[in-house]
Amino acid sequence: MRYFNTIIVGGGPSGITCSYYLKMNNIEHLIIEKGEMLQTWKHERWDSFYLVTPNWMTNLPGLDHEIPYNNEYMSKDEILRVFERYLDFVCPNYMENTTIGRISKCEEGYLVETDRGEFIAEHIIIATGMYNNPFVPEISQKLPVNVFQMHSSDYRNPEQLKPGNVVVVGSGWSGVQIALELRKLTGRDIYLSIGSMTPLPTVYRNINGVYWLNRLSGYKKGKAILSYHLDDFKNANIANKLNQNLKQCQMEGVQILGRMTDAEGDILIFSDSLHKSIEDADDYLDQVKIRIEEHIAIEKMQVPSGTLDHYNNRLDKDLLRRITELDLNRSKIGNIIWSTGFKRDYSWIDLPIFNEKGLPVVEDGDSISENIYFCSLGLSVDTKLKSAFGVGLFAINESAERTVQMLLDNTKK
Ligand SMILES: Cc1cc2nc3c(=O)[nH]c(=O)nc-3n(C[C@H](O)[C@H](O)[C@H](O)COP(=O)(O)OP(=O)(O)OC[C@H]3O[C@@H](n4cnc5c(N)ncnc54)[C@H](O)[C@@H]3O)c2cc1C
Repeated sequence: MRYFNTIIVGGGPSGITCSYYLKMNNIEHLIIEKGEMLQTWKHERWDSFYLVTPNWMTNLPGLDHEIPYNNEYMSKDEILRVFERYLDFVCPNYMENTTIGRISKCEEGYLVETDRGEFIAEHIIIATGMYNNPFVPEISQKLPVNVFQMHSSDYRNPEQLKPGNVVVVGSGWSGVQIALELRKLTGRDIYLSIGSMTPLPTVYRNINGVYWLNRLSGYKKGKAILSYHLDDFKNANIANKLNQNLKQCQMEGVQILGRMTDAEGDILIFSDSLHKSIEDADDYLDQVKIRIEEHIAIEKMQVPSGTLDHYNNRLDKDLLRRITELDLNRSKIGNIIWSTGFKRDYSWIDLPIFNEKGLPVVEDGDSISENIYFCSLGLSVDTKLKSAFGVGLFAINESAERTVQMLLDNTKK
C-alpha cells in the first residue's frame, strides 16, 4: 500500500495542469492514467485534425510564453508537441496503463484499488475529461454486418473506409469536419445525419465561439481576447477552419439528413423533422446570442462589434431534400461513422456523490463529498448558471487552479 497526499485520475492536459499547481505548493501526488499520458491527443484524433480553438486560447500555466498569441490553429501533431513539451516541463509523477477498479472511502482518506496495487490518498482529483467513453447508439447493432462502422474517436483517415458511400451521424464539430474531409478527399456520396445536437457557434462578433461558451459557463480568466481581423482571411489555416460548418457541408455537396431514428433490414430511417430541427437549432443559437449580448452588457466587456458571425452561415433550408429512408444497397452505403459523442462513466467511484443521471453532484465545481474534486468537466463554475457549455483548452488553467485552491483550503480547515 502506498500513500500520497493527492491522486489525480487522468493524465490529460487537465491532470498535468493540476500537477503543475500541486508542485508549486509542494504537495506530493501521483497521476494515474488508464492509457498513455496524453492518451486522447496521441490516439483519439484523426490525422488531419486541427483544433477548433485558436492558439491564443490554449492556456498552459508556466509555458504560455511558448505558445504563439495569434489566431492560427494547431494541427494534431503541433498541439501534441506542445502538450508533450508541457509534460516534460511539469514532469509529474505518473503511472500509465493502470486501471482503477474502485475508489472508496477509508479511514485515512480514499482507497484507490488498481490492477497495479492499492493506494491511499487524502485528496482525489478526477481529471478524466468530458469525453472519455465513446457513445454509439443502439441502432448500430441492427445494421447488417457488411456495413463498416466506427466511432469518430477511431477515425484517422479515409483509407480506413471500406468501399461505398458514407453516412456520418452527428452534427457536432467532429461530424462536420469528418464529413467535409471525406467529401473533399474521396468524392464519395456523404450523408450527414444531424440530430438534436446543435452545432455551437464557431465565431461571434469576430471572436471564437468557444471563448463565448466559456464566458457563459463562468470561466473568465486567461489571456486578453484576440478577435479575428480581415487579414486573418488571407491566411488559409484560419479561413479553412472558420469555414468548417454545416453551410460549407451543404455547399460541398454533403447530403444533410435528419436524425437517424432506426434501422430495419437494409433501410436506415431518419426523422422527418429536419426542417424543424434546423429551426430549433437556430432558435437555440439565437438564445445563445442573446445570452452572449447580456453577458457583454453585464460584464461591461469591450468587444469589437465585428461582422464576422457564425449566424451569417445558416443552412439554406430550400436546398435540403426530405429524405426519411436510405436503402443501404441502392445508395451503395458501405460505411457509417458514429460521431455521436461520449458518455461519462464513473462506475469505478464507489461514493454517494452522483445524481440519478450518474453525474457528480457539485457545488462550485467541487463535489459534495470531502476532498474529491472534478477538474475540467464542463461543470459550471458560476452556480447561478443552469448549464455549462464550456471548458476546453482555454479554461483548463482556471479549472485546475480552482481545483488545487479548493484542495489547499480544505487542507487548512
Ligand atoms: C474530437 C475532439 C476535439 C476537441 N477539440 C478541442 C479543441 O479544438 N479545443 C479545445 O479547447 N478543446 C477541444 N476538445 C476538448 C478537449 O478534449 C479538451 O480541451 C482537453 O483535452 C481536455 O483535457 P482533459 O485533460 O480534461 O481531458 P482529456 O484530454 O480527455 O484527458 C483525460 C485523460 O483521462 C484518462 N482517463 C479517463 N478515464 C480514466 C480512468 N477511469 N482512469 C484513469 N484515467 C482515465 C484518459 O485516458 C485521458 O488521458 C476536443 C475534444 C474532442 C473529443
